[in-house]
Amino acid sequence: MVEPLLELRNVHATADESVILRGVDLKVYPGEVHALMGPNGAGKSTLASVVMGHPGYRVTDGQVLLSGQDITTLPPDERARRGVFLAFQYPEAIGGVSVIQFLRQAIVARKGLTELSVLEVRLELAEWMDRLGMDPAFAERHLNEGFSGGERKRNEVLQMALLEPVIALLDETDSGLDIDALRVVARGVRTVREQHPDMGALVVTHYVKLLEEIEPDRVHVLVDGRIVHSGGVELAASIEVDGYDAWRTLVR
Ligand code: ADP
Ligand code: MG
Repeated sequence: MVEPLLELRNVHATADESVILRGVDLKVYPGEVHALMGPNGAGKSTLASVVMGHPGYRVTDGQVLLSGQDITTLPPDERARRGVFLAFQYPEAIGGVSVIQFLRQAIVARKGLTELSVLEVRLELAEWMDRLGMDPAFAERHLNEGFSGGERKRNEVLQMALLEPVIALLDETDSGLDIDALRVVARGVRTVREQHPDMGALVVTHYVKLLEEIEPDRVHVLVDGRIVHSGGVELAASIEVDGYDAWRTLVR
């Protein structure tokens, strides 16, 4: 029997005393891409944060499992080491650290290496930048300093490619991203999947255009902390036409 890479079992979560997730069940199997949609404030970012182990959120009931192992109480760095990857929407600029230096440290931590030469990283990075159609000069730039929306997305995709996560969480909070930046994500996910076909991904987005390009296996609608509906990519198209109202009334 194939085990899910990521499984949420009846997950309830709170932040600052307020209840946000109210019993979420989700299974992502190897090679699957799932999309998570839902109105603002539904709890989509909370769900991603809970899977990553963000200390600002408390799981009050249920479990998060990674390849069958309960990770509900593990700290975020341990989850990252085991292959949970969360792309930050608004990553901090880190002065004086280049993209390549950052990636080297991240790969060392993820793969449990004691040493990894700059040359090795440079070679793999060059290969990926070529696949993703990126300018090689990008590797030498300082992390997130003055990055455009598209460049931040490229940086996320590069991290995802090089860290070879078991499950990648992409929270496209959407605001301020132009369609080109979204395309970077869609193309990036496709390219990384070609190289790592077993990777699972959970993509949070409002944009049906993005989903059409990513071609998710499942689409889930989260309303008021619960998954109220799951279906194929046609669900995204119907949401574009009808919005979330039908499900809002279901919850009330
Ligand atoms: P979404 O990503 O679907 O827009 P969020 O997960 O960001 O939704 O937020 C869901 C709800 O939880 C919102 O009402 C938000 O205000 C609240 N919330 C999120 N994070 C916190 C927090 N750290 N403390 C208190 N409330 C929070
Ligand atoms: Mg959000």
